[in-house]
Amino acid sequence: HAKDSGKGRYEVFDASMHRKVQNALSLEADIREAIEWQEFQPYFQPILRLDNQGLKGFEALARWQSTKRGFVFPNDFIPLAEETDLIQAIDLQIIEKSCQQIKQWQEAFNDSAIYVSCNLFCKHFFSPSLPDDIAKILQNTGLKPESLRIELTERALLENTDIVLANMQALKLMGVKILLDDFGTGYSSLSYLHRFPIDVLKIDRSFINNVHEHDNHQAIIKTIIDLATNLHMATVGEGIENLADAELLQQMDCNYGQGYYFAKPMSASDCASYLKAKLG
Ligand code: C2E
Ligand code: MG
Ligand code: MG
Ligand code: MG
Repeated sequence: HAKDSGKGRYEVFDASMHRKVQNALSLEADIREAIEWQEFQPYFQPILRLDNQGLKGFEALARWQSTKRGFVFPNDFIPLAEETDLIQAIDLQIIEKSCQQIKQWQEAFNDSAIYVSCNLFCKHFFSPSLPDDIAKILQNTGLKPESLRIELTERALLENTDIVLANMQALKLMGVKILLDDFGTGYSSLSYLHRFPIDVLKIDRSFINNVHEHDNHQAIIKTIIDLATNLHMATVGEGIENLADAELLQQMDCNYGQGYYFAKPMSASDCASYLKAKLG
């Protein structure tokens, strides 16, 4: 009996493995098509000053409007896109569309200070063509480099340090600011943070969520903000979902905030209405 059920389990496992591989292959094929068909679009989530709720800019977040699969969120395509290196093409499309959109809004709302902050997969920072890729997009869209920010995670600081540093310096020289995303969750050692020309630390939302009820998270956030201040970096709290957290972060001298409490990521047309209400 034991042998029979063992064999049965093996077959079930085998069938589900097979299905997983099939699914991954078909997702990969669909992502390839979607890149060609330009199905990836940026959604925009506001980033505000915590002291006066003034709008500073937006984070661009990829959404896939798939003819085959419907509306797809990043968690369902970014991991495979990273594994297959297709992420680089997606990232460049999102950055180009975001720059185009922000340029248009700067003109429509007569506010040249609105910026866009785009996520870039860490491996892109290992590529010598990165500064050129970004320069071309800025040239094509006419957006000022000062209006573009690049978000990367701590993963990018762990390997190929020389090329990562060179790329960061090239972007900084152009006027593009660099943000460290999800700070506090990665493996980066505090001792080498100062070697990279990072302008802003984004405090991970796992520390922010209901921080007003968690003393230990308050201590971590305070430490991150002190660190940022000492290194002349600004701070963004991400994932702020309620007023109590927003107020507490402001009391702790966190500069900027982002989260559902202020606004969810919005399509370009919803975001245009948001801008009209806020600035128009
Ligand atoms: P991220 O860069 O840390 O982006 C913040 C995520 O938190 C977004 O999820 C956003 O919708 C979500 N968020 C914002 N405020 C709140 C809140 O108050 N509560 C909660 N629960 N969540 C909030 P999203 O859009 O699903 O993106 C997930 C991740 O996918 C991003 O995390 C980023 O790592 C990655 N990603 C998104 N777009 C791109 C892209 O264009 N390129 C690359 N390479 N990665 C991207
Ligand atoms: Mg981000
Ligand atoms: Mg983040
Ligand atoms: Mg995140």
